[in-house]
Amino acid sequence: MRISGMFMPTQREIPADAEIISHQLMLRAGLIRKVASGIYSFLPMGYRAFRKVENIVREEMDRAGAQELSMPAILPAEVYMASGRWDKFGPEMFRLSDRGGRSFCLGPTHEEPFTEAVRDHVHSYRQLPVTLYQIQHKYRDEKRPRFGVMRAREFVMKDAYSFDATEEGLDRSYQTMYEAYCRIFDRCGLDYILVHADSGAMGGSGSQEFMVKSEVGEDAIAYCTACSYAANEEKAPCPAPEVGAPEPMLEKEKVHTPDFRTIEELMDFLKLPPTDFAKTLMYDIDGKIVAVMVRGDRDVNETKLKNLFDATELNLAGPADVERVTGAKVGFAGAIGLKEEIPVIADHEISAMSNFVVGANETDQHLKNVNRTRDFAPTRIADIRSAVEGDPCPECGSPLAMCRGIEVGHIFKLGTKYSEALGCNFLDSAGAEQPMIMGCYGIGIGRTLAAVIEQNYDDNGIIWPISVAPYSVIIVPTNSSDETINTMASDLHDKLTEAGVEVLLDDRDERPGVKFKDADLIGIPIRITVGRKAGEGKVEFKLRSESAATEMTPEEAAAKALELIRQG
Ligand SMILES: [Zn+2]
Repeated sequence: MRISGMFMPTQREIPADAEIISHQLMLRAGLIRKVASGIYSFLPMGYRAFRKVENIVREEMDRAGAQELSMPAILPAEVYMASGRWDKFGPEMFRLSDRGGRSFCLGPTHEEPFTEAVRDHVHSYRQLPVTLYQIQHKYRDEKRPRFGVMRAREFVMKDAYSFDATEEGLDRSYQTMYEAYCRIFDRCGLDYILVHADSGAMGGSGSQEFMVKSEVGEDAIAYCTACSYAANEEKAPCPAPEVGAPEPMLEKEKVHTPDFRTIEELMDFLKLPPTDFAKTLMYDIDGKIVAVMVRGDRDVNETKLKNLFDATELNLAGPADVERVTGAKVGFAGAIGLKEEIPVIADHEISAMSNFVVGANETDQHLKNVNRTRDFAPTRIADIRSAVEGDPCPECGSPLAMCRGIEVGHIFKLGTKYSEALGCNFLDSAGAEQPMIMGCYGIGIGRTLAAVIEQNYDDNGIIWPISVAPYSVIIVPTNSSDETINTMASDLHDKLTEAGVEVLLDDRDERPGVKFKDADLIGIPIRITVGRKAGEGKVEFKLRSESAATEMTPEEAAAKALELIRQG
């Protein structure tokens, strides 16, 4: 391909609204173009890279025995009403109606239509298992679309769904997908970690996320520094601390504590560390007020709390509720002397504390030398705090470290949630009707591509791995008016093209510096420069990932390029 005829609108400036590297580079390298907030076009260079990822995904899905099909993006409301998600998706779902007033949506995810299709055509255990997938557009009206194609409102996903007759069957289907996912992300050259995820709104149990470590990631991950354990911060369990020999209990006393705005100020005044404070937060959990206690330096983990109550709505209680149940202004809540009988949930760590400070449920008052075993009985003691750096790994006890990550893939064991809701049943070997046991498996194609850039770039631009690069080789003739140079560059281009290599020839009448800058920006893995030494039969061979170039004959350069491409 000759660059002179290409639609490749590169930009010198960093676009103002692009916050993260992949978004900046995709715009600068002319890979994508913004059409509206969270809605992008892929331009030729970007679309080639996009299709590379798509094809890797497709090859590995096919290899894993999944069958590709294509569902419509526009779906009737009834499909989502049966599962309850027509309401549950809320404003995130793009909705529209046809000329007859019938309601439709643009599919945000396709569990329902896949389940319906299998329900209507698969009836016996003999036809199971079956795994279906599609690579298709999804629509979610994100509140804050950002980071380019990373969090967009229209995006392409590979979504797969497995249907099994037994739990063991689901385990096998899940494992097969897990292995396919590892191969996909390995082939894309991504450095990823696998985390146990909270399954959240998707429902079901057993789910893992493939996360790419990145400072710009939206998810906090706790990972073990010694073993392979990693979990979403929301879900990382905090083991109960070991309770040592109890300290002698001191006499409980009330202290006057006006005008302290933070726990640190209060504890400073009491000459105690914040770890000797048990903070009590009032939550409104599905309309009921609940007191939640964690150590002064900890954060309540709302996901854990939500799961503990199997709640749908969870918010911090408003001041009126706090004042009613504590009889005090906000800031003096505690577990002792509450004005209403409400559940008190204490974190494990509270059990290991002695002679600590709590709010007195009286304005401007705290209680000192409180001891759980003597002074109050929580309704429940549970793991409700967030993990922090240094906490012991739940698997091996080594310290946990924290990082941020971008979720590129997600595998779930859905169980029978959708098959029961939509009546997707089969007859087992005894002739009894059973709901199918489902799994679902997603990969964001555009997001994976952006993640590859997040992990592979330098100051000059993208550094594509060969597997995902829009072109593998770029040939740069340094002087377009030199016949020897031009002929050699053009011959090399034709020869490589004939050998099946995706090759670019920068035949523009530009200075070498401009061409090198663009080659670096668009990140082509192999650069062959045809310059001054063309007359001596020599070219320069350079990898985008390395700074040094090597002199060799055009034949050697072609052979070396072919070898590298074969290795992937
Ligand atoms: Zn560990």
